[in-house]
Amino acid sequence: LPPETPRRIKALDLDVVNKIAAGEIIVAPMHALKELLENSVDAGSTIVEVVVKEGGLKLLQITDNGHGIEANDLPILCERFTTSKLQNFEDLMSIGTYGFRGEALASISHIAHLKVTTRTANSSCAWQAFYADGKLTPSKPGQSADPKPTAGRLGTQITVEDLFYNIPNRRRAFRSPSEEYAKVLDVITRYAVHREGVAFSIKKYGESGTGFSVAAAATKIDRIKQAYGGAVAKELMEFEVGDDKWGFKASGYATNANYSVKRTTLLLFINNRSVESSAVKKAIEQTYQMFLPKGGHPFVYLCLEIDPGRVDVNVHPTKREVHFLNEDEIVELVCDHLRESLAKVDTIRTFKTQT
Ligand code: ADP
Ligand code: MG
Repeated sequence: LPPETPRRIKALDLDVVNKIAAGEIIVAPMHALKELLENSVDAGSTIVEVVVKEGGLKLLQITDNGHGIEANDLPILCERFTTSKLQNFEDLMSIGTYGFRGEALASISHIAHLKVTTRTANSSCAWQAFYADGKLTPSKPGQSADPKPTAGRLGTQITVEDLFYNIPNRRRAFRSPSEEYAKVLDVITRYAVHREGVAFSIKKYGESGTGFSVAAAATKIDRIKQAYGGAVAKELMEFEVGDDKWGFKASGYATNANYSVKRTTLLLFINNRSVESSAVKKAIEQTYQMFLPKGGHPFVYLCLEIDPGRVDVNVHPTKREVHFLNEDEIVELVCDHLRESLAKVDTIRTFKTQT
């Protein structure tokens, strides 16, 4: 038999492209929340409030008191690659905001129902707009899609409903809303520890008590205490180490040898971005091994400031793992420093018990 003739190659419809991209960027509610939290911080907010229903699958609402969005920008707000943060590729080297690629709101609008209410300081009212597939959409059939004036405080409220409503297999794959809630909570507590000066809170829709909250004025240790508990907070060592040769500064808080739990909690920030690195985690776990009982693990909050020329921020948002230049040398210096601090505390403890 002659080989089957190949099927012709055709360009995908833009709508299909956008929906595929959206599903890659927003894999679970936690990814939507991370993007929205980062937008609120980028907008200079000092209060960020989150409400969720069914772990964020049914509802994810985030309200901030940041600078808001100009009414005139609302028509292109959710288009792909529209941003107020980046202009030239070179600016990426020195960018101070979390966002820059203008993909988050676009993505969310392709896989959820999205409502935006926002007010800037020079506007006498707030504006409300609904989005679907990157574009303004009427709130009800038959109405106009134009943004409408409404009452509202300074800042922005983003309401995301029915995440993955149009990707049924993805939606069905989420078995447990409480598992998603735990992940959403994990995202917010990480940022709450890191972003001093910002108040964060999260609660479940319809429940009176908050799941977690921290005041704007809370200190670093207060933040760790609120988010990770008093047992962690009372055994912390503050550390700081750096090296010009490798172009980095590391600082943070790590538990001493009195604290030991089944699993490591590592809050890792590289140039203020919450990231993951299995290399860093493994090195830290090895460092603690000789100080903790068998199977014991620490809590470590580590902020790395790395010379922007040595780390690539232009990684796709789906890549949670990061790498940087001279990773091994930097990690070793940080771990050496931690080891020394741990040894000091251990000596003090031994000394105390002897006398
Ligand atoms: P990016 O953050 O990469 O620019 P996003 O899709 O997350 O892309 O947001 C698009 C734009 O919408 C941002 O550049 C910003 O101007 C505006 N924006 C989004 N969220 C907020 C917010 N909470 N407050 C003020 N402006 C916002
Ligand atoms: Mg963003």
